[in-house]
Amino acid sequence: MALTDVIIIGAGQAGLAAAYYCKKQQLRFAIVDGSKRIGDSWRNRYDSLVLFTPRRWNSLPGLPFPGLPGGYPDKNEVANYLESYATFFNFPIQLETRVLKLEKQDNVFTVTTDRGQLHSSAVIIAAGAFQKAYTPKVRRSVSLIPEIHSSHYKNPTQIPHGNVLVIGSGNSAAQIAIDLHATHRVTLSLNKKLRFISNRGLTMRMSLLSALKVLDAPTNSWRGKVLHRSARGLVVGKSLKTLIKTGKVEVRPEIQEINGEKVIFKDGSTLTPRQIIWATGFKPDMNWVAIPGATQNGTPAQQAGVSLISGLYYVGQRWQSSVKSELLWGVSSDAQSVVTKLRSYLAQ
Ligand SMILES: Cc1cc2nc3c(=O)[nH]c(=O)nc-3n(C[C@H](O)[C@H](O)[C@H](O)COP(=O)(O)OP(=O)(O)OC[C@H]3O[C@@H](n4cnc5c(N)ncnc54)[C@H](O)[C@@H]3O)c2cc1C
Repeated sequence: MALTDVIIIGAGQAGLAAAYYCKKQQLRFAIVDGSKRIGDSWRNRYDSLVLFTPRRWNSLPGLPFPGLPGGYPDKNEVANYLESYATFFNFPIQLETRVLKLEKQDNVFTVTTDRGQLHSSAVIIAAGAFQKAYTPKVRRSVSLIPEIHSSHYKNPTQIPHGNVLVIGSGNSAAQIAIDLHATHRVTLSLNKKLRFISNRGLTMRMSLLSALKVLDAPTNSWRGKVLHRSARGLVVGKSLKTLIKTGKVEVRPEIQEINGEKVIFKDGSTLTPRQIIWATGFKPDMNWVAIPGATQNGTPAQQAGVSLISGLYYVGQRWQSSVKSELLWGVSSDAQSVVTKLRSYLAQ
């Protein structure tokens, strides 16, 4: 049985940042990823996606993000940057290799993929926090309205003409509503009041908070908790605010029920949309992790990337160590700290 030091599951930004530090620490490692190309997580998102983080915050360690540092890249720029990053460092990546099961016995991890088994002394799960579409439960009699999740939304051409209902109070819902307003009648169902901040305003606020070290506040510290609360319902960009003000996007409260061709909202009003788009977020997909104690309620059981299972680590989880953990901006420092701990574990 060939035993390597580390297997990294996932070759998105989190897996690549982890690979950078594994290489630096001269660990023997392999990366597996189910997708065809590096960067596909980004490529597969909706066509109009532009990041809210400027290029200067999107660099992974050792290779600057190309282009004007103050500008905002689109999703394909990020995908292509990640691909060139993997090529530049010549990481040992096996693409189109999906992990079906992760087990641990006698201090050895067995990673069962659709292309065979791999064995290692440690594992870093960098499989993404946004893998599984999340749709809240809603009362429904028969539903005759076509529904998709935002993860399957690409552009307005795929949506039938007429009224479209976008459900969600986050940035994806906002961007999709903006994307559709010129070709469709858009109604946005919100479960919280939106607060708007311009891209420039967000960049300035985050720069200031970063300089004051507030953005590095640990998840469970009081400053971390305040940040967590203040990030809720914050929409980046002001176009949606204008569209709502001018009546080009209509706002309704939360959905109460779907009944036939009709949606009933919590204020009693109704709508008969041609299409529903659920922009209600994601959850990690941990179904393949078959190690008791590694997950809790389907989410990783970890603190700052360290699992309760010795030798098992995470990078790229939401709020893993701070508000920055899920962003390109914060993934490198999390990866560095996790690989440092992993190295000490291997040295024991
Ligand atoms: C709509 C949207 C907009 C965002 N905008 C921004 C932004 O503006 N700025 C920012 O910094 N962040 C943004 N993010 C957050 C974050 O940067 C991205 O979600 C990013 O893709 C996370 O990178 P990751 O490497 O953690 O996960 P992913 O990019 O999801 O990569 C995980 C990899 O793991 C692989 N994988 C998963 N399961 C398995 C398995 N069982 N076997 C093998 N391989 C597997 C996948 O194929 C994938 O390649 C956004 C997220 C979303 C959803």
